[in-house]
Amino acid sequence: MGYLDDEVKRLQSIIDGIEGRVKALETRQSGGSPSKATSEEIRMILIGPPGAGKGTQAPKIKEKFSCCHLATGDMLRSQVAKKTPLGREAKKIMDQGGLVSDDIVIGMIKEELENNQECKGGFILDGFPRTVPQAEGLDAMLRSRNQTLQHAVELQIDDALLVARITGRLVHPASGRSYHTTFNPPKKAMTDDVTGEPLIQRSDDNAEALKKRLATYHLQTAPVVGYYQKTGIWKAIDASQEPGTVWKSLLAIFDGDKAKAGNAGSGILSKLAGRS
Ligand code: ADP
Ligand code: AMP
Repeated sequence: MGYLDDEVKRLQSIIDGIEGRVKALETRQSGGSPSKATSEEIRMILIGPPGAGKGTQAPKIKEKFSCCHLATGDMLRSQVAKKTPLGREAKKIMDQGGLVSDDIVIGMIKEELENNQECKGGFILDGFPRTVPQAEGLDAMLRSRNQTLQHAVELQIDDALLVARITGRLVHPASGRSYHTTFNPPKKAMTDDVTGEPLIQRSDDNAEALKKRLATYHLQTAPVVGYYQKTGIWKAIDASQEPGTVWKSLLAIFDGDKAKAGNAGSGILSKLAGRS
């Protein structure tokens, strides 16, 4: 057993070394900086009902790819907090579990993709698109930038599991970080682990508003799944598992990308394998 373990470790360190050198070569080939190699760019959306775990997983994706995380819900809540005319209008709709107009949210995403420097490394959209017209708006936006979406990942979960998740959710409004009273409690009660600032409960995170939000989801957002199934970039993962397992499912999707890139014939790895 000891010999086998040592041998596996030795092989792993050889593989790590080769991976590092391949990455450096690919970075040089793409003319980019190490953290922004083209193979590492991500353009994806997370679809799922309220409480599915979009806001929990998205920051991990952001960290992995150094991209931006755009959550239309967070953007709207920031307008509500600032009491802007849009915020006042949006608050009523949000508390009733309805959807803010397509034009407004499409405009918000467009503005971020054009001006937010973090989006240069790619983007992950959370809570957008929520209607088919929003999906069409996103496609048009990307077409004009000569870009395409790589993944539309659906976080699948039974409605019955969402009540406990939503009624126990605590958020740090400034960062969008979310906690859960039972499933992911902060180190100190009602306090953000990172800034020490107070956590709040969202005004729409109650059982009654959730019912309406779920009805809206099934009526208006479920067709977005069909939209991306047709384009071939849709993938579903089981979001009822614990957060670490959900993260592993996401990593498996990204690893699938790497395997494809390796098989495509244009990468350094395929050159090494004598395929091009
Ligand atoms: P969404 O952004 O999809 O509305 P969140 O990521 O904010 O959902 O998650 C909703 C609540 O459920 C949060 O309180 C979060 O801590 C908790 N949560 C997220 N993922 C899981 C999970 N896999 N298992 C249990 N609780 C989770
Ligand atoms: P979320 O934070 O994603 O749960 O969103 C909270 C609320 O903001 C939703 O219930 C909607 O009222 C509104 N909202 C967020 N994103 C969108 C969107 N893409 N389109 C329309 N309304 C949205």
